Amino acid sequence: MASILAIANQKGGVGKTTTATTLAHAFGLAGRTVLLADIDPQANATSGLGANAVDTSPAFTPTADGSIIQTSWQGVSCIPAGRDLEHWATQRGLAATSLRDNLERLQAGRFDVVLIDCPPSLGPLTQNALAAAAAVVVPIQCEYYPLEGLVQLLAAVRQAAQRNPRLCVGGILLTMFDPDADLGREVETEVRSKLDEPVFESVIPRDSAVAEAPSHCLSVIQYAPRSRGARAYVALAAEIVNRGLIG
Ligand code: ADP
Ligand code: MG
Repeated sequence: MASILAIANQKGGVGKTTTATTLAHAFGLAGRTVLLADIDPQANATSGLGANAVDTSPAFTPTADGSIIQTSWQGVSCIPAGRDLEHWATQRGLAATSLRDNLERLQAGRFDVVLIDCPPSLGPLTQNALAAAAAVVVPIQCEYYPLEGLVQLLAAVRQAAQRNPRLCVGGILLTMFDPDADLGREVETEVRSKLDEPVFESVIPRDSAVAEAPSHCLSVIQYAPRSRGARAYVALAAEIVNRGLIG
């Protein structure tokens, strides 16, 4: 059975897609088979992996063909984002188990790890990710006070856990950390002291190499292997394994 991790935060620009794609590559390079399901209509993960969005998302529509795409990244396959995700994003009637059922239909269980890159909302698409996942990784940007948004997200996770009892918060991930900025350190102190949920020890620094990598269809691990960003994501992948979040 695959370990399914959702990368979620209703705020945009916090590093969800960067975390999903870079972790996928870190696990792939470490010898695992990885499936990245892109359920964000913006399709940033899909294009970052060098794939194209499709009309009909195989993650939500059983009749979609094409389904899983093998990427050029070692060990990494992808369920591309579909243009119809815009429609599903506003469909109150979308069954919360649609993604979970479709992952089964696509035999996602044959992969070691499934990572779900969520859109920046707590709407039906993210609800579907929470119904399918065993753990949620929550990237937060260290450049504003995140607690209010986090409380809302954590409440959504608790609610989803009533119907998906194996769901847990895998960890909150501090991203775009600038050690020279007072605000970054204040946010770290606040998050580590005020929340009961686990916070990853690995912290992702703000690093221009991380931002440049997707335009070359590479992860930062390949684009700039010695950069601080690459090393931080490799350390995060190891921490996720050590915490037992993936097998
Ligand atoms: P989200 O998926 O939450 O909207 P992204 O992963 O797309 O966020 O990141 C938002 C922007 O910030 C992107 O342009 C990305 O390249 C950039 N970015 C993400 N992480 C870092 C980082 N550690 N250092 C510098 N830029 C980053
Ligand atoms: Mg994104």
